[in-house]
Amino acid sequence: MSMNSQGRPTAPAAESRTVSSGPAALLPAEPLLFEIGDRDHSGVDLPDVEVDDSRLGGLRRKAPLDLPGLTEPEALRHYVRLSRRNYSIDSGMYPLGSCTMKHNPRLNEKMARLPGFADVHPLQPVSTVQGALGIMEQLSHWLMELTNTAAVALSPKAGAHGELCGMMAIKAAHEAKGQGHRKIVLVPESAHGTNPATAAFLGYSVKSIDANENGTVDVEAVVAALSDDVAAIMLTNPNTCGLFESQIIEIAKAVHDAGAYFYCDGANFNAIMGVVRPGDLGIDAMHINLHKTFSTPHGGGGPGSGPVVLSEALAPYAPVPFIRKNGENIGLVEHAEDGSFGRLTAFHGQMGMYVRALTYMLSHGADGLAQAARDAVLNANYIKARLDDLFSAPFDGQPVMHEVLFDDSFLKGTDVSTLDFAKAMIDEGFHPMTMYFPLVVHGAMLIEPTESESLQTLDVFIETMRDLAHDAKAGNVGRFTQAPMRAPLRRLDETRAARQPKLKWSQEDQRAKAAE
Ligand SMILES: *Cc1c(COP(=O)(O)O)cnc(C)c1O
Repeated sequence: MSMNSQGRPTAPAAESRTVSSGPAALLPAEPLLFEIGDRDHSGVDLPDVEVDDSRLGGLRRKAPLDLPGLTEPEALRHYVRLSRRNYSIDSGMYPLGSCTMKHNPRLNEKMARLPGFADVHPLQPVSTVQGALGIMEQLSHWLMELTNTAAVALSPKAGAHGELCGMMAIKAAHEAKGQGHRKIVLVPESAHGTNPATAAFLGYSVKSIDANENGTVDVEAVVAALSDDVAAIMLTNPNTCGLFESQIIEIAKAVHDAGAYFYCDGANFNAIMGVVRPGDLGIDAMHINLHKTFSTPHGGGGPGSGPVVLSEALAPYAPVPFIRKNGENIGLVEHAEDGSFGRLTAFHGQMGMYVRALTYMLSHGADGLAQAARDAVLNANYIKARLDDLFSAPFDGQPVMHEVLFDDSFLKGTDVSTLDFAKAMIDEGFHPMTMYFPLVVHGAMLIEPTESESLQTLDVFIETMRDLAHDAKAGNVGRFTQAPMRAPLRRLDETRAARQPKLKWSQEDQRAKAAE
């Protein structure tokens, strides 16, 4: 077995794989429950049940249920060991650009676990869930105030789903006005892949808009692409290069003058919340990833939440259900009225995420949210300022917003790629930054610290990055191409994993592996 410099095994040797759960704790390969459990024992003793066959309708099981039998400590240890393999925002800095991995305050968790929120059921009569609906109403109010918009759809379950929701509202609005022939959606080349994917999914053809040499979109480029066939533009602001689209107001006007709508990808709202209201900039629809901007966990505890705010023009086309306040009573409008494009999800969305996001808002206050945005921007600019002399920034000249983008030209001639550099960061205890995105620059490294990180943490990160950059330039290629050396597994065959994913455990595979 190979060991790293800390004496920890780096890869499982085939012969060391074991089916017992004891010594495996010290080995890098955690077996599956199916491999450590057997059919003969169980964590609980259940009495034999005598049920008359006549009551089972001929459905009595003939073979034993093929589940692994484990005692409670065995099962618990398995999951605890797996959890220790996770790199998370709770274990270290997670500078993944565009993803905004900010701290999830424990106060949010405490509130979300209150039985009145945690135990509500979407089919409960509305008279019994007035408090929960009140939370949704307050959250909606905050989202509309922060964005200066007229309506909000809470049901989308992620940013990409929110894009779908907003673009469906835009489609419905065009159709209602006899403009259904508009088939083109403009998308800047730096956009997140979900933007063109959403447009294409709805049957639009996507027209790419080039960025200028500063990494932003020129109003002239948009005007040149506009026509009577354009339904909308999907623009991210701040964009995925971490830059504020300074011509956004002119772009919004040009888009509206051409009879199209302005979809704003608001995934980066955390950079401007409380400071700029997108409604003032002329946007018609924008999703807000609660997991990026408002500190809810990314994917934790079930689907996430990506509410969409809508302008006055698009509000009538919002999906059902939505909240309507009637004096003291809060109701849910469940059936499409004039205009609404219908239902996007079965129910009204993720209660747990609403509680967490509202907790974050209330614990910060309006001024605190603006401070959080400013701190996120300050942190990104601090990293940029301290790495600028060693790294290469493609769009220099202006301060960045919440994230800083470098390209790989500083690695030219070193035989170290962006991927190698990222893998070496793992050995130093950091989650890598976002790599190779946005596509507009070569070998992109997109770093987003968020407001969560202290000066001390940022300094350790910066010193590590500087040390790596020095080492790459000094020709110490092995530190990069061999990395990661201190991870349970080394470089994975990601292509094969994507092309031939193994999604199911099978006895045959297990036997074949043992025979190898
Ligand atoms: C994260 C992100 C999305 C997609 O959001 P999900 O919640 O991951 O679906 C879209 N656009 C941008 C710019 C993003 O950063």
